[in-house]
Amino acid sequence: MLYPTPIAKLIDSYSKLPGIGIKTATRLAFYTIGMSDEDVNDFAKNLLSAKRELTYCSQCGNLTDEDPCAICADESRDRTTILIVEDSRDVSAMENIQEYHGLYHVLQGLISPMNGIGPDDINLKSLISRLMESDVTEVIIATNATADGEATAMYISRVLKPAGIKVTRLARGLAVGADIEYADELTLLRAIQNRTEL
Ligand SMILES: [Zn+2]
Repeated sequence: MLYPTPIAKLIDSYSKLPGIGIKTATRLAFYTIGMSDEDVNDFAKNLLSAKRELTYCSQCGNLTDEDPCAICADESRDRTTILIVEDSRDVSAMENIQEYHGLYHVLQGLISPMNGIGPDDINLKSLISRLMESDVTEVIIATNATADGEATAMYISRVLKPAGIKVTRLARGLAVGADIEYADELTLLRAIQNRTEL
């Protein structure tokens, strides 16, 4: 089906989103055209400001609109513990259960030998330099229980242990392959309370 260029372009943009096939992209494009001018304006503005105003915290790598992020800047947080997660969505999931009061380190990815992603390709170097000049005594690894999550946890543990830092991993309450982001609060709460030393 040949559409006028502006619609074809819009369909093309939508189809670049994850999980959106050409059929859904076409439906969304036609829906957008039917929206009010005001709603379309807001939508476009929100897309641009999300992209322009967000940055990564220079300390922990969390997505933020101010640097350092609100968590790193919060003097009341426990600075002896760092919880390592794959991305910012995991930080939100952890913050929601209000059980953890230390700092975070966001890897923005995982080591994935299968996909050729090594330690230098994720936000890991800054963790090492961060630990050198800090009072951190425990690092909790909270990567998902997937092959890549495990590979990343093993690597970090191997690097940090000789430095005399206690390295723990979230307990096995989380099912293999489960996403921390989608874990229910009770499961997450148990996982952090029953963490085990690596
Ligand atoms: Zn931060």
